[in-house]
Amino acid sequence: MTDTRPDDPPDTESGDGVENDVFTYNGGRVDPGESVNIRYGISETYLGDPVRIPVTVVNGQYPGPTVFLSAAAHGDELNGIEVVREVAHDWDHTELHGTLVCLPVMNVPGFLAQERYLPIYDRDLNRSFPGREGSTSARRMAHRIFTNFIEPCDLGLDFHTSTRGRTNMLHVRADMDHTDIVRLANAFSSNVIIDGQGPSGTLRREATDAGVPTITIEMGEAHRFQRSLIDRALTGVASVCAEFGLHRDSSVHWPGWRILIDDTDEKTWLRADAGGMVDMKHGRGELVEEGDVICTITDPFKEEEDIVSVEAPFTGLIVGVLENPVVYPGNPLCHLVGLEPETRTALERERTDVDPLLRYLE
Ligand SMILES: [Zn+2]
Repeated sequence: MTDTRPDDPPDTESGDGVENDVFTYNGGRVDPGESVNIRYGISETYLGDPVRIPVTVVNGQYPGPTVFLSAAAHGDELNGIEVVREVAHDWDHTELHGTLVCLPVMNVPGFLAQERYLPIYDRDLNRSFPGREGSTSARRMAHRIFTNFIEPCDLGLDFHTSTRGRTNMLHVRADMDHTDIVRLANAFSSNVIIDGQGPSGTLRREATDAGVPTITIEMGEAHRFQRSLIDRALTGVASVCAEFGLHRDSSVHWPGWRILIDDTDEKTWLRADAGGMVDMKHGRGELVEEGDVICTITDPFKEEEDIVSVEAPFTGLIVGVLENPVVYPGNPLCHLVGLEPETRTALERERTDVDPLLRYLE
């Protein structure tokens, strides 16, 4: 792993004849200036056929960091797939300084079934990293992915969406105690960053522990391609490429306003205290005032005296929200985070500049 970030820049400029390193994985190599599509075997089906993940390695002509972009560790979380595919196949890489390792669909069995987990015993691939040979099927798959395509990298971006039935604003999850991750998270230029290590076994935590600083990007809902979110995430990837010197001619993007949410901040998952059907009054990315009715919960008869109103306990931003309008008591309704007055001012200023219909799309 070579460190060729801007604060320790390579002693070359583009076009002076010094080439990037060869990228190698078990069974192959990708030369500088080459882009290779690989179907890489990580397991076998009941029929003995290979389970292969698609991987595109774009090895730039010029030296620079190696960055992985991964999606669909949860098989029904689709937005990131399109982000990774567009970076791999629609971007012009002739001036790339460094290497992009693009993994659009990691959980192939889950993707085929359009399910979150690996259908085999409902294992969570994103709790199985770094994986291990000789262990469960999930850990063996994780191990093949991790050793070949994650460990050789310098940085990583892992794309997710909300769990089925909910949606969330585009936001970054990052361990902000880690200097390189602070730089990476800020460069991605999302409005919201949620600080935390992440559970053990997640790609982002295990990659970071293995020396590959990695963030998770959460965006939208499962089972969809949401164009506005995909475009926003592509801006984030381009901004990361600018910050870390992969793209020398572009600049780092500033999102206009930003909130960093850590354990000390006011935030809550509001949960239903009644079972029933939910009439949600607010969408993701919306600002609500303390005491605003966020939603009502009704039974099949919609009787007046049985209507439950759920109010905002503090003024804040709706980061995640229920989409499927049915709940048991205890099910999450919305993820609300408090806002400092200055952040709120910046947010409101930005939003008066855009079409009111667009404000909920981010
Ligand atoms: Zn996920």
